[in-house]
Amino acid sequence: MQSHADQIVQALKEKRLRVTPQRFAVYANLLDRTDHPTAEQILGDLNRDAPMSSQATVYSSLQALYKAGLVREVLLEEGVRRYDANVAPHHHFRCETCGTIEDIAWDEIRDLSVGGVDRYEVTVYGQCERCAATLAAQGLPHKPDLSQT
Ligand SMILES: [Zn+2]
Ligand SMILES: [Zn+2]
Repeated sequence: MQSHADQIVQALKEKRLRVTPQRFAVYANLLDRTDHPTAEQILGDLNRDAPMSSQATVYSSLQALYKAGLVREVLLEEGVRRYDANVAPHHHFRCETCGTIEDIAWDEIRDLSVGGVDRYEVTVYGQCERCAATLAAQGLPHKPDLSQT
């Protein structure tokens, strides 16, 4: 059985990317999480473990991984670029209270392809389970109650 590190090195090599400590660290960090971090969040994480990464090296590593198809960019908010190591087709859910972004399996949303559609991706907005529970505990409705106006 291969170790996690071997798998990462192999994935980089298969894409003909030179294996640098920064690329390795950035890709390993992304594979370990599902929260769709920004480059700044990855940088913060890496520097907590071992202060060695600069913003520029994290950005260039992300660009190399992105071009190689190992990570994808997720653009759900204006001007915010997030990264995801899950490159299989999937949709996203975004919590409007805490900003959490979760993956939604591709087949959980019915096929929306019609003639001429090449690709699409759905973003579902609402409250994550944690925020929904917090709001319920406070006796607040998930949405403004429009029936009582
Ligand atoms: Zn939430
Ligand atoms: Zn995702």
